[in-house]
Amino acid sequence: MKILVCNVGSTSLKFKLYDMPGEKVSAQAYVERVGSRDDGIYTYTNLAEKKTFRQTQVAVPTYTEGIQLFLTDLISEEKGCLTGIGEIEAVGFKTVLSRGHYGVHRLTEEVLQGMEDYMAVAPAHNGPYLEAIHVFQKLLPQAALIGSFETAFHQTIPLAESLYAIPYEWYEKYGIRRMGYHGASHGHVAAMLLEREGEADQVVSCHLGGSCSLCAIDGGKSLNNSFGFSLQAGVFHNSRVGDMDAYIIPYLLKQGLTIDEITFGLEKNSGLLGISGVSNDLRQVEEAAEAGNERAVLAVDMFVNSIVSHIGAYAAQMGGLKQLVFTGGIGENSASVRRRVCRRLAFLGVKLSDEKNESSGKDKVISAEDSQVKVHVIPANEELGIARNVYRELTHVL
Ligand code: ADP
Repeated sequence: MKILVCNVGSTSLKFKLYDMPGEKVSAQAYVERVGSRDDGIYTYTNLAEKKTFRQTQVAVPTYTEGIQLFLTDLISEEKGCLTGIGEIEAVGFKTVLSRGHYGVHRLTEEVLQGMEDYMAVAPAHNGPYLEAIHVFQKLLPQAALIGSFETAFHQTIPLAESLYAIPYEWYEKYGIRRMGYHGASHGHVAAMLLEREGEADQVVSCHLGGSCSLCAIDGGKSLNNSFGFSLQAGVFHNSRVGDMDAYIIPYLLKQGLTIDEITFGLEKNSGLLGISGVSNDLRQVEEAAEAGNERAVLAVDMFVNSIVSHIGAYAAQMGGLKQLVFTGGIGENSASVRRRVCRRLAFLGVKLSDEKNESSGKDKVISAEDSQVKVHVIPANEELGIARNVYRELTHVL
């Protein structure tokens, strides 16, 4: 069964075409700078023939053109791997949030309405996804369109961990609670540990990338996630705030800032960028910190602190820590963040092998032989989790 997985970013599109259940990827593509009239970048790879084609200065004014580029290549003589577009049986989307639909769902009008209803909670995600889904409805009318929502893996978080201590009727009336996101990534981590270690008990999975979240996993199931009602909460992110005292907002409003100025500040000018003033990219912040920039040093210290305190909280919730996992752009690449986090966790029995931590390779165990906690680096593979969810949904394989 051919399943196309589509990951829609605010200005990008990523595609992977899977052959299920074998999990082989036959083609993939990356469209950058969606929204641009003449300087989009489009990279397409036919994996069977190991051929990559890269085009720059491409017109991709909307998602429609980006999706068309890929579908055209899939059936082209030179690059393609399908005889017709009708071979695609399903498209799986890494959708984020739909009110009342938190798992893996066919994208019916009701589910799409739920995404509209929560547009204000996930504006950077729900808008682009709705647009892309409507394009696929037109271009691939025969295919099943399925949303594997980022909340799906977190349906097992107990209510006592997911509620805020707000008036209970706000939860009932407006649905306000911690949702948990990055479900495809943390779900993939749990699946990999179950496969490799035979268990996923007392695990903390750290997805550290452009946005960051930690997940407590026990018995292979999510027990907590640092994201909140929105994707702004928890550990602080590249340019988003993370956890913050809610009373700062009414205070700033009374100081004369508008709600738009405040949300812009919290979304685009906070986190690593907000504190360092240097960049939202950890590489540049680390470089500036090494060169002695005090605010960059502070930003990295705060970032590490927030990760360590979440891990401590989750170890307490689970009654211990057996495995720790780093994934995402920072988790996979920043040996220094991993080292600093692990050193602080010595009291929990974490002992890093500096040599393994510094070694190349993104899929590795980096703890010392005598560490009580096994520490892994596992490359993020959110698309595979989505392809599996879609396949399961269509075939009801448990
Ligand atoms: P996204 O969450 O947008 O999918 P990624 O998971 O690819 O992003 O993570 C991107 C981030 O990873 C970059 O913004 C940068 O902060 C960080 N990063 C990537 N490579 C390195 C590196 N070698 N050292 C430190 N940080 C890195």
